[in-house]
Amino acid sequence: MTTTLVNNPIHPAGIQHLENEGHDVIQGPLEGDKLHQALNQAHGLIVRSGTTVTPQLLDQAPHLAAIARAGVGVDNIDLDACKQREITVFNTPNASTNAVAELTLTHMLNVARHIPHALPATKNGEWVKKDCRGFELHGKTLGIIGLGRIGARVATLAKALGMTVHAHDPYVEPNHPHTEKIQHLHDDPHDLAPLVDILTVHTPLTPTTEGIIDATFFQNANGIVVINTSRGGIIDEDALLDALNDGTVLGAGLDVFETEPPGAMPLLDHPRVSATPHIGAQTEEAQRNAATLAAQGIIDTLQGDPPETKLV
Ligand code: NAD
Repeated sequence: MTTTLVNNPIHPAGIQHLENEGHDVIQGPLEGDKLHQALNQAHGLIVRSGTTVTPQLLDQAPHLAAIARAGVGVDNIDLDACKQREITVFNTPNASTNAVAELTLTHMLNVARHIPHALPATKNGEWVKKDCRGFELHGKTLGIIGLGRIGARVATLAKALGMTVHAHDPYVEPNHPHTEKIQHLHDDPHDLAPLVDILTVHTPLTPTTEGIIDATFFQNANGIVVINTSRGGIIDEDALLDALNDGTVLGAGLDVFETEPPGAMPLLDHPRVSATPHIGAQTEEAQRNAATLAAQGIIDTLQGDPPETKLV
């Protein structure tokens, strides 16, 4: 019998899938002696961010061959230690692609139709109709920085709404299939500032993407909308507030912040800022996808066929 320890809560579909495939499943979160006993039996381990996988933890798991991170970030897993022990580690970055793309569209529509102003006012009994002449996405130009999984999905959805899409991604070759979804791939992100009506970022946070949208970028923009559902810090929040105040930026949609939770801040008080608490992957479908992809990856790895999202 193959045993998988699921040490953090995942969607029940993942547990069901393992059991249907004949796996013995131990469900956590476990600590101390109970964790030790479970690790001693485990061939597979599924975690989220709540379990830290250290060399000491791995020492307690003599049969462990596969670790799944149901989700994306693997800062909590010592990948070098796993590699040394020939334990396969993978994550499930495809699980939330559509969920994040749809939230990106939500923020675009929110800003375009003054929803951050109209919604609380209407619920409060105020009739602010005259303040709310917005614009349609149809016929507008969208700029995407980062044409990976989510950026490409946003491009598909935006095209379906009748938008023209331009992008910047230095790691995407001009003949990459994702470029079929866009009008033009630009070498310089600053080319997008004067060209687009809406700009959205879909890169990881790295030294080259941190502050990629900053005061210099906004100098070339005129009344654009900016959206960040990727990672806080890719758009410089101080520069964004200045640009909102001087009209360079018409509105913004933010799911992520430099500090989370951000607390009260002037940026969030702006009537054309649509804000959500990092809920990009918070859909039933994305959570189910993450759990079933993690379960299937454990099953496949233990049968000698690790998933494409293998990290070590
Ligand atoms: P991905 O790896 O598929 O795509 C990222 C793209 O960014 C790649 O194509 C890469 O070439 C590009 N890139 C890297 N550096 C760049 C640069 N300097 N300039 C332009 N492009 C650059 O990743 P993904 O799955 O599409 O995820 C994108 C982002 O969304 C990540 O930051 C991820 O953490 C975030 N995310 C957020 C949520 C949420 O809850 N809001 C959920 C999932 C993912």
